[in-house]
Amino acid sequence: MRIEIINTGTELLLGNTLNTHGAWFGRELFQMGLRISRQTTVPDGEAIRESLEEAIGRADAVIVTGGLGPTSDDITREITAEVMGLELITDEAALRSLEGFFTSRGRKMVDANLKQALCPVGADILPNANGTAPGIYVPPRLNGRSNCAVFLLPGPPRELYPMFHDEVAPRLRALAGVEEIREAVVLKFTGIGESDFHHGVDAQLAAVPGLEYGYCAHIGEVDLRLIGDAKVLDVARKITLGQFEPFLISDDGSSMEKTIVRLLKARNMTFATAESCTGGLIANRITNVPGSSEVFTHGFVTYANEAKTGMLGVPAEEIETHGAVSEVVARRMADGALRESGACIAVSVTGIAGPGGGSEDKPVGTAWVAVATRGGSTEAFKIFHPRNRKDFKLAASQSALEAVRRRLKSI
Ligand code: AMP
Ligand code: MG
Repeated sequence: MRIEIINTGTELLLGNTLNTHGAWFGRELFQMGLRISRQTTVPDGEAIRESLEEAIGRADAVIVTGGLGPTSDDITREITAEVMGLELITDEAALRSLEGFFTSRGRKMVDANLKQALCPVGADILPNANGTAPGIYVPPRLNGRSNCAVFLLPGPPRELYPMFHDEVAPRLRALAGVEEIREAVVLKFTGIGESDFHHGVDAQLAAVPGLEYGYCAHIGEVDLRLIGDAKVLDVARKITLGQFEPFLISDDGSSMEKTIVRLLKARNMTFATAESCTGGLIANRITNVPGSSEVFTHGFVTYANEAKTGMLGVPAEEIETHGAVSEVVARRMADGALRESGACIAVSVTGIAGPGGGSEDKPVGTAWVAVATRGGSTEAFKIFHPRNRKDFKLAASQSALEAVRRRLKSI
């Protein structure tokens, strides 16, 4: 099924608003076994006409976002009706719900809003519980010019997302036909690169009939995307894990941090962090996971030497002797975090983010990571991620979390 997205909004092309809809739709549709074949961004106003005319000639379904507001540059509804040769009439139910929206908020509806209740004859109104603009669904049979379904959806994400789930996804499923929908999974790996996959499993995966697969590299992570029916996915998973199981973060697309929270919960363990060069990023990542409060207790950000000494009890003379970026200090930080927090497992990271501060034996990008567990040994290792500051922090946080993940797996 060929699905095209048209995002309208001058702000998207001026760079004022990041066009997040394309990526969001991609993920949502992918989970349904569907894909976007083309995405177009156009400014407000007339520009949508040409894009829509082209898209309905190519696609089986077109999803248009934005331009359903009450102002004069919001003309998606009007242009769509023109392109499809359909008359616009006031939908009484939409009008009542629009009036209800304003009444419930103690506001008076102005005439400009009246056009938001307009609907092409024969099309469906898609209710909007979170805003004034209802969506519109023009089924393929209505479209005299081609056999293409058209969805018009509001731009604001808090209106768009629920409307997609409630109104659009079921219609797309029906249009695609259930048997056509294949499963899609993402296996996340760390510690290996795309080239390892290329040499390791690529030829075997390519030989699996009915399997579609692809890789996507991020900082400290490679995603393997598998698409196919359940049996095919099982075969592909076995091939891949046969080679790379130790590097697997998750086989359901879950992030590293989500995986760690899950592992901690399953083991009834609590977790603390002692961060220097990552500045709290590890704690931030962990606390982005819903339910992390059950397992995460303390995030020490000990950036200055005095903080390492004062908060974590790292002896000042050891920092003096070995340097803040050293195995000794990393171990002391992890042990200190464990002691001060009372958590079951702690990780520390101390490194040189750059651009300054590097030396010959400790170049920019060097960091030490240590993992300590209550009643267990403390393990430390050196990492090297010579990147810009932000990427270095992300890579270092990933290495540290991976060390935690591995330790948890061994418990
Ligand atoms: P609308 O009035 O329906 O065109 O949508 C207006 C608001 O929705 C904008 O101010 C943006 O905040 C948001 N919006 C619209 N399109 C997008 C998009 N493609 N990506 C992210 N936000 C968007
Ligand atoms: Mg707009």
